[in-house]
Amino acid sequence: MAGSLPEGYEAYLDEWEKKIGAFIQLERDPLKIPGPEAGLPLPTVPPEALRALQGLPFAVKDNIAVRGFSLSCGSKLLEGFKSPYTSTAVRKLESAGAFVIGKTNMDEFGMGSSTDASAIRRTNNPWDQSRVAGGSSGGSAAAVAAGIVPFALGSDTGGSVRQPAAFCGVPGLKPTYGAVSRYGLVAYASSLETIGILANTTALCRAVFAVIRGRDPHDQTSRDAPAAAPALYNGSAPAGSGGRKVIGVLSAETVAKAIAAAAAEGGDDEGAALRTAALAAAPEEEVSRGFELAKSRLAALGYTLADVELPSLKYGVPAYYTIATAEASANLARFDGIRYGRRPDWAENPDDLIDKSREAGFGPEVKLRILLGTFVLRSGFQDRYYLRAQRIRTGIRRNFETLLGSSDYGEVPGTAPPPCDAILLPVFPTRAFGRGDAALSPFAQKAADLYTCCANLAGLPALSFPVSVEGGLPVGVQLLGRAFAEATLLDIVESYEAAYPFPHPPGYRVFRS
Ligand code: GLN
Repeated sequence: MAGSLPEGYEAYLDEWEKKIGAFIQLERDPLKIPGPEAGLPLPTVPPEALRALQGLPFAVKDNIAVRGFSLSCGSKLLEGFKSPYTSTAVRKLESAGAFVIGKTNMDEFGMGSSTDASAIRRTNNPWDQSRVAGGSSGGSAAAVAAGIVPFALGSDTGGSVRQPAAFCGVPGLKPTYGAVSRYGLVAYASSLETIGILANTTALCRAVFAVIRGRDPHDQTSRDAPAAAPALYNGSAPAGSGGRKVIGVLSAETVAKAIAAAAAEGGDDEGAALRTAALAAAPEEEVSRGFELAKSRLAALGYTLADVELPSLKYGVPAYYTIATAEASANLARFDGIRYGRRPDWAENPDDLIDKSREAGFGPEVKLRILLGTFVLRSGFQDRYYLRAQRIRTGIRRNFETLLGSSDYGEVPGTAPPPCDAILLPVFPTRAFGRGDAALSPFAQKAADLYTCCANLAGLPALSFPVSVEGGLPVGVQLLGRAFAEATLLDIVESYEAAYPFPHPPGYRVFRS
């Protein structure tokens, strides 16, 4: 038996789920689904983390495999497909005594920032049901924010855990690239993405991460944290002792200035593109206010704040979309209607079968990105797009290394320590947006990924957390850290949360098992 739910919980869950539609599949009776696969040993997980997870129900984004559950990726092409196996991250959580109650809605194959690009259903923001929950892990964020589950898994390729977390007012962790096994995560852009965590408290985020991280023989890009990385428990600094930590502040104004300067220098086309991007990345007033509030509160907690710049960030979005679409066009080639998912009733021949399956199965955003990906990779043009994007990616990583130190933790004796322990930056320029006329255009949504996609390009961990509620909607900020320094980010945010508890939407009840 996987677990049991407390009294009164089902009614609460049904009431919320009717309003927000977070789930693609929700199983109230864990006996109805095939039990967990054989457990995985959890040798290095501290007992505090295991205690925190025992008996907790959780939700899993519908692009992460759980045996016997849906694995639709929010796509018509895979609607109704059931996974034959369980991802490593979920198996570890099950071994720790937590159990899956459902699969959450998402933008198709993780492509989007609203969850409205799901081909299966619509998910509403628990704070205001006329607005989106963010994306692409919008179902997971909404389910946690509403208190349906204490935590959920998502995936973050360019911001898909942190942005919906900010829209729904919960903390969201994107771990270091490779810190968590991707085995069982349906690939969108393999070199950028990680499984991430949304939880109702920072402490629970930490416990889940402590369980799911680590090298996995099924994923050759996964690895253990280096021995010199800060420890997750009894970590680098106990909560509240902010004094020694320096937080670099990368404000939207600094970023806007850098983009404007590049626009003035660039040729006509590049200048115009950069000016449009600058406009889309400019934060609304409420988001700027939230950012200033986060700064003053962190300073009050004893952290030292210092303004920083990140010169290559201005090219982050074009680099991200070049690399992400290139990888997506290759990764999504497997969906041919033969091995998985839906296929047409009748086809002329195998080629026709593939064409018809993809034509009917993929939504417009997915088709657009596959086309873009094949465009940037076409022969003779790789220098112009893909290789340039890779150089920008290296530039962004180097900029971060100058501020935070390098990922191997091998400091050179006699050189100064890195100037910052973490970098504070906005998550997204707007709060949860509406639909129809109140929606953000698909172009603006992409340009707005500026603040989140840089952590994926650099492979660094980032933790977004709610700071305020403005006009009834949460505002979040994020802290970005050195590779495998999730503990530093969690320590800072836990000390913040102790002083300034996270907000909850009206009607929220905390889960007690
Ligand atoms: N908004 C980004 C995109 O559409 C984020 C995607 C993600 O992290 N999965 O690609």
